[in-house]
Amino acid sequence: MCATCGCGPGGSRVEDAGPHGAVSDHSHPHPKQDPEHRDRTHTLKLEERVLAKNDQLANRTRTWLAEKGICAVNLMSSPGSGKTSLLERTVREAQLGRRISVIEGDQETTFDAQRIRDAGARAIQINTGSGCHLDAAMVQRGLEALEPEAESIVVLENVGNLVCPALFDLGERAKVVIISVTEGDDKPLKYPHMFAAADLVLVNKIDLLPYVDFDLNRLATDARHLNPDLRILPISVRDGSNLQDWYDWLGTV
Ligand code: MG
Ligand code: ZN
Repeated sequence: MCATCGCGPGGSRVEDAGPHGAVSDHSHPHPKQDPEHRDRTHTLKLEERVLAKNDQLANRTRTWLAEKGICAVNLMSSPGSGKTSLLERTVREAQLGRRISVIEGDQETTFDAQRIRDAGARAIQINTGSGCHLDAAMVQRGLEALEPEAESIVVLENVGNLVCPALFDLGERAKVVIISVTEGDDKPLKYPHMFAAADLVLVNKIDLLPYVDFDLNRLATDARHLNPDLRILPISVRDGSNLQDWYDWLGTV
């Protein structure tokens, strides 16, 4: 889909099974199909152009959201860290005084958007095909389909991936990374871009800490070495530990 992450050609789809109905198809040409761009220098220039175009679109989205008083949060993690579970519980429990809606990014299926709808919030699914991240153009189309209300919160649940989502500005106000204790405490060193870009790191599944070798202090030290102002919040979506702190953060971001 893009040269930046080298994830191959493919199109993304926006799915809306909600009241707004439309399903649209979108694809754009794969840069690697152009023989001019085969060598590394050209590829790097192309990556810069892809990201510059993305940033331009993201800034347009940011302005549009700000005019409506909408706060967008980009939620990123590996697959299975608990993004959707966190959002289900947030939709059911959080007293934010603001409506919440979700744009779900996955390569395939509409499972997660359905889970969010079942929890009681509006959700749009974007399927990225072979793409491994959401980009600003996908989010723009997702927002057109979602039509979030003024003064609301929109969570952009990114494709499960700790690599290239860090590079793509979606027009969000804040980036939240979830890491679960079953994944290991070495992730900030392995995926520094993600932790350098984050505003908040949620450490999920802390109910499993007695059963795994996960050093919360090591994670915090390494992450703050990359990002000194980073807020780190240990939580358990399963038993509810510290979720009120997450709701408080989300309500005031
Ligand atoms: Mg999910
Ligand atoms: Zn990607």
